[in-house]
Amino acid sequence: MRPVYLDNNATTRVDSEVLQAMLPFFTDHFGNPSSKHDAGAVAGAAMKTARQQLQALIGAKFEHEIIFTSGGTESNNTAVLSALYVMPGRTEIITSAVEHPAVLALCTHLEKTSGIKVHRIPVDHHGRLDIDAYRTALTHRVAIVSIMWANNETGTIFPVATLADMAKQVGAIFHTDAVQAVGRLPMDLKSTAIDMLSLSGHKLHGPKGVGALYIRRGVPFHALIKGGHQERDRRAGTENIPGVVGLGKAAELALEGMDEENTWIKSLRDRLEKGLLEHIPRTSVNGDPLARLPNTTSVTFDGAVGEAIELLLNRHGIACSSGSACNSSFLRPSHVLEAMHMPDTAALGAVRFSFSRFNREEDVDQVLHVIPGIVRKFQGSARVPVG
Ligand SMILES: *Cc1c(COP(=O)(O)O)cnc(C)c1O
Repeated sequence: MRPVYLDNNATTRVDSEVLQAMLPFFTDHFGNPSSKHDAGAVAGAAMKTARQQLQALIGAKFEHEIIFTSGGTESNNTAVLSALYVMPGRTEIITSAVEHPAVLALCTHLEKTSGIKVHRIPVDHHGRLDIDAYRTALTHRVAIVSIMWANNETGTIFPVATLADMAKQVGAIFHTDAVQAVGRLPMDLKSTAIDMLSLSGHKLHGPKGVGALYIRRGVPFHALIKGGHQERDRRAGTENIPGVVGLGKAAELALEGMDEENTWIKSLRDRLEKGLLEHIPRTSVNGDPLARLPNTTSVTFDGAVGEAIELLLNRHGIACSSGSACNSSFLRPSHVLEAMHMPDTAALGAVRFSFSRFNREEDVDQVLHVIPGIVRKFQGSARVPVG
């Protein structure tokens, strides 16, 4: 049976068109864009095309509002650290309780080492941001707000355009980790107040180790990585040209196929959810029922252990993800589900399935064929005898 890959929020397959676009830049077109000869010019021109492809996907006003980085993690770190540097009088950060570790771990580090105050805005049981808490935390002490566009575990979408407008009122820089949203949701950054945005190649069928940071023109910026004059002094180091070309191609494909692809993917996702809810007792879907990515479902099988389901499905050739992390001897529930006020036992029973353009109906059928038996074993053994 063909492997069933339903872990596309972890990483995606490189599209063959992306790979084909990249290959010449390892061989014939290996030049360094900083060189003045023709080989350099070819590489430079390819970077320009890639920047324009990304510009179109996110609706940036100017192509040079985009710099290339090593991925989502670097983009997030760059945004937050830059804002603290350029706003020395401001010592607070606002983020959410459900961010990716690429933001949360940095915030925790800053809190411990530099006396920065971090506001982690809570969410409700659907994963929706507490707007009142956000409004209260927004003061002129805040250097940067970093709140994700869409959550990687539940797919919940935050109203970032509104949040950015609110941040503007107090003069804070607004950054969004849009790694899961770019290529899935239509974007027009020029018509929003979003100052910075992170994206990553390998989450949209591009290569790993390349991403981008959008920095609105006029927003003060300080480079994280210092060295040569690449990226107009905003990110030093010889550019990853094959990666950049791949990311550009991936952006072009995502923009071209977005509507059709989302319709298809959502139908697969909904078919899976419907099947799971119908056939497995004590099953519920996590996240905002109204504002959710079309490709993501986080499902709790109450009384079961998500990590064990993940491993057992793997034996059937099915790849999915449980948000829980095994820390030496005990299982720790996902911080996202914990923040959604889910009891530990329920949070440990969660499994995430995330789709891409490469999934088929048979993938859903295969999951629905094997998973009821797996969950039943747990739920059966967990039953407490009464009396
Ligand atoms: C994957 C992911 C990242 C990290 O991106 P990398 O390119 O792997 O560093 C950051 N934020 C979110 C929401 C992600 O899903």
